[in-house]
Amino acid sequence: MQNLDELLKEAEIAHGHLCAGQVLGVRMAMLGCARLGIMDPRGKERKRLVTFVEIDRCATDAIGVVTGCRLGKRALKFRDWGKMAATFVDLESGRAVRISARESSKEAARQLHPELENKNQQQMLAYRELPEEVLFAEEWVRVQLDPREFPGYKGERAICAVCGEGVNFGRYVVRDGKQFCQGCAAPEQRYYQPVENKHSG
Ligand SMILES: [Zn+2]
Ligand SMILES: [Zn+2]
Repeated sequence: MQNLDELLKEAEIAHGHLCAGQVLGVRMAMLGCARLGIMDPRGKERKRLVTFVEIDRCATDAIGVVTGCRLGKRALKFRDWGKMAATFVDLESGRAVRISARESSKEAARQLHPELENKNQQQMLAYRELPEEVLFAEEWVRVQLDPREFPGYKGERAICAVCGEGVNFGRYVVRDGKQFCQGCAAPEQRYYQPVENKHSG
């Protein structure tokens, strides 16, 4: 695996800027891989790792860069818990480690670099330097992955009886022997609502 500086450079390019969250995310992912003994997650070991992230902030992008886990490969799972934490799952051994950033890491950064006024600068530097046990809590966990959650799993695809759009395995709703997409099965719970189309003429 590349070193911290090299990975931070890559994370900066992918994310658009370097920030404290990038540093934390890169170190969290490096630690997760190290605990699982996965040293080349984007190379020859790229099919071993699935990562659950619990927040949609800067660190998540960095975790994707280091692990190579992507939403589009079904290897990155998002659980919107608003927590600076991630669980790294080794599909080969079945082992999984959950790592969370300690709330106290902000205070630790303040103590380490009181000379820096800007909080982001303070944390960016401190998060490079502080030892892992100051920054993170970790625990071994068990993650039960449904077959359809595995990268590469293929199942039958349905056509929604209402909108006619295709829906992947296990994501549709069966009612009275018909298959519906989630949007048509529960229109009031859609994340979007259609607007009236206005035609000019
Ligand atoms: Zn950022
Ligand atoms: Zn539908």
